Amino acid sequence: MLKAMKYRIYPNKRQIQRIEKHFGSTRFVYNYFLEYRQKEYAKGNKKVGYIVTQAELTKLKKLDEYVWLNECGSQSLQMALRDLDSAYGRFFKKQGGYPKFKSKKHKTQSFTAPQNIKVANNRVYFPKFVKDGIKVKLHREIPKEAILKQATISRQNNQYFISILIDDNISIPKPTKAKDAVGLDMGITDLVITSDGKKYENKKYFVKSQNILKKLQRRLSKKRKGSNNRQKAKLKVQRLHTKVSNQRKDYLHKISNEITNQYDIIVLETLNIRGMIKNRRLAKSIADVAWSEFMRQLEYKAQWRGKTVLKIDQWFPSSQICSSCGASTGKKPLNIRKFDCLHCGKKDIDRDINASINIKNYGLGQVDNRNTVGTIGS
Ligand SMILES: [Zn+2]
Repeated sequence: MLKAMKYRIYPNKRQIQRIEKHFGSTRFVYNYFLEYRQKEYAKGNKKVGYIVTQAELTKLKKLDEYVWLNECGSQSLQMALRDLDSAYGRFFKKQGGYPKFKSKKHKTQSFTAPQNIKVANNRVYFPKFVKDGIKVKLHREIPKEAILKQATISRQNNQYFISILIDDNISIPKPTKAKDAVGLDMGITDLVITSDGKKYENKKYFVKSQNILKKLQRRLSKKRKGSNNRQKAKLKVQRLHTKVSNQRKDYLHKISNEITNQYDIIVLETLNIRGMIKNRRLAKSIADVAWSEFMRQLEYKAQWRGKTVLKIDQWFPSSQICSSCGASTGKKPLNIRKFDCLHCGKKDIDRDINASINIKNYGLGQVDNRNTVGTIGS
């Protein structure tokens, strides 16, 4: 299966210059041939596609005026032509608007290296960056058996990133039989609580960064429009945004990996995301974003690994049942974290773990019901 893994890279000054040249050259090629194709179409020449533009590019690179194009990886230039061709393809199929010229001022600049990508010793190597390689922070490891297909290098808010498309060499496995199941409850203090009693806390630094973000945004709103200071303040806000969202994703990747690796059946409640986002309380709104991202990760990873995700109805009163005896223990205010069951006498029941066990049992009950229905009378 193909997947993309994105990492921050730390090019030195010389490498930054070379990267910027690649942004410039690929953008130039894209824009030059957009104009070229427009003119040819206007003349009634409808057959101008990738092949024609590629031949024209080869000629262009031989002219003194454009000799600087040769400093850029030739395949990256060709990728720009392919991008342009896809943009036209989408337009012709009415899936997109007419291709637009790329602007130097756009906050994200990028180029693609379509092959010969290598990662070793915390450095990433690709054409025109083969000798020294660029320092990369591999916060997630690339699977050993993976094939590195292509890489897109980008600049966002003056930081550089590489997104590597890999083929992990694993075909989608068939869902396995239920060996081990888990129920998940989602909360605010702890983001995820498993029926085995494991708690993944809602990292405090999310709240902290979110507070700083609010402060920066307030500061930004006071700056005069069009001023340099406003530009600077804007950059700060965008950077923090990226940082917070990356931190959150990494943390959620860790949790979703652990859970989809360990369990075959994962039971959780469907979340009423829309209803949640209306709630403006900070901690809550952060948890909302995290929950929906977590569920997204959980579902696609479960698919990779041949695991099953069962979603149960959100109205299931998971916190109102004693998971030991099944008796109803009634509604409890949120501040009640532990309770005793008056029916079976079990003491100090952890509210969240109890809920996640109920979620698991309820989910497995659904599985059993389906099985029973299938076997009746046979
Ligand atoms: Zn009980």
